[in-house]
Amino acid sequence: MSASPSTRSTIIVWFRDDLRLSDNPALAEAVGTDCPVLPVFIQETRPKTLRPLGGAAKWWLHGSLKKLGRDLEKAGSRLVLLDGDPSELLPRLADEAEAQAVYWNRRYHPKACAADARLKSALKEQGLDVQSFNGSLLVEPWDVQTGEGSFYRVYSPFARAARQILDPGSPLPAPKKINAPKHWPDGCALDDLKLRPTKPDWAGGLRETWAPGEAGARERLAAFLDERLPRYKTHRDSPADEATSALSPHLRFGEISPRTVWSACSARAEDTDDSSLRGSAEKFQSELLWREFAYHLLYHLPPLEEGNVQSKFDDFPWAKTGTALSAWKKGRTGYPIVDAGMRQLWQTGWLHNRVRMIVGSFLTKDLLIDWHVGEDWFWDTLVDADAANNPASWQWVAGSGADAAPYFRVFNPVLQSKKFDPDGTYLRTFLPELAELPDEHIHEPWKAPPDILKAAGVTLGETYPEPVVDHGSARKKALAAYEEIKGQA
Ligand code: FAD
Repeated sequence: MSASPSTRSTIIVWFRDDLRLSDNPALAEAVGTDCPVLPVFIQETRPKTLRPLGGAAKWWLHGSLKKLGRDLEKAGSRLVLLDGDPSELLPRLADEAEAQAVYWNRRYHPKACAADARLKSALKEQGLDVQSFNGSLLVEPWDVQTGEGSFYRVYSPFARAARQILDPGSPLPAPKKINAPKHWPDGCALDDLKLRPTKPDWAGGLRETWAPGEAGARERLAAFLDERLPRYKTHRDSPADEATSALSPHLRFGEISPRTVWSACSARAEDTDDSSLRGSAEKFQSELLWREFAYHLLYHLPPLEEGNVQSKFDDFPWAKTGTALSAWKKGRTGYPIVDAGMRQLWQTGWLHNRVRMIVGSFLTKDLLIDWHVGEDWFWDTLVDADAANNPASWQWVAGSGADAAPYFRVFNPVLQSKKFDPDGTYLRTFLPELAELPDEHIHEPWKAPPDILKAAGVTLGETYPEPVVDHGSARKKALAAYEEIKGQA
């Protein structure tokens, strides 16, 4: 016989995209009651409400859960892992653990919101107290409204309005001690979730590059503030300079809260007379607001993820995919900046923002391939693959989004390369076969004289591919395709 709600004391904290102890409002609230706390993570393999994670994100999640489990153990607790449908598992767990309450931090994907609302009602009917909190955003999608009470479709007014209401407050400290329930329910082992690749194990480059988990996130933030923030405003667009934070996967999995990042950055800016450091801090915070904007759009514009926000793109004459797509994925298009980017993505699970824009433009405009195809590839290969940022950014690049780059703005991959990687440092890091080419030829090897190619050990079509398309003709073709849909609403 299970206990009546009044004699129950345990509070279940359901971890989702908030895999941290610090500044975790749901956990802090539960710990603050002095009741026993039961932390749980559910791999939501059923029902198919959420998009299944891609390979790189799964690898990250494995590391993140491992670290969260250890951090909870240090505080006298544990992380119970379950696999299946939360709407079946949580009511059962609540009964088994004689829980009085379930707390979680909110998420903003429309399908996840609907599922969470249904679950909340069901748990409440079971007599449980259910509370949800904001642990993932600086401003929730409904907090920022236009004068007409609607949502924003354009970033700049959104960011202005967000800054006006934004009051992040101080991040909450991590609990030192978490009361354990009398009995721990059975859960699965981390390896049972089968998150890591085994045959083959392709994650070597990811292991070398990243330290998933809350401690890794905090270290990265500290290093960013000390070493990179001063250069952020001036160097953030050059991929070789490593001036950006690389916090994106940590933010994606909630290993650090945006409030922690925002306030640490504000503290640096307030603590200095250096106007360029303050300018960098302001620029960095405006990038954090792009993330907020993507979530604002995801919540208010459900077609963001699966369809085109501008419906005229439903009739866009995309090309059939084939060898060009395969060349793009493998980093063998013959355009060095595109290839270096796609190889960085494959090796490290991450890609610099400028290069994301270049490879995205190349796919959707030079190759005329539907942005969904690129978005899917990023979803599978990025450690920071994010349900809001990824489709919002792809639609921005493709021109089909709410606040999008106009379709007719086609990036020239050679000019971008010369501008943002003038001495080819980034290209040489990921394209060793071109490393010996002089700076003036590395951006467009097909134009290099034969003796220069020979001296650098480059044989086009053998050691490095010829360009899969001619950019000038491809640009004209893309603009003609756009003309076909331009006049539509
Ligand atoms: P920083 O410059 O240090 O910025 C700090 C944080 O702000 C980032 O970690 C990120 O959370 C946020 N941010 C920065 N730029 C953007 C942006 N343009 N849009 C939204 N948020 C931003 N970002 C993801 O987190 N996940 C994705 O799946 C993703 N897919 C993308 C796909 C394409 C085609 C493009 C063009 C961009 C995509 N981005 C995505 C946005 C951006 O490229 C990354 O957030 C950024 O490169 C991460 O590097 P960083 O942490 O060093 O960024």
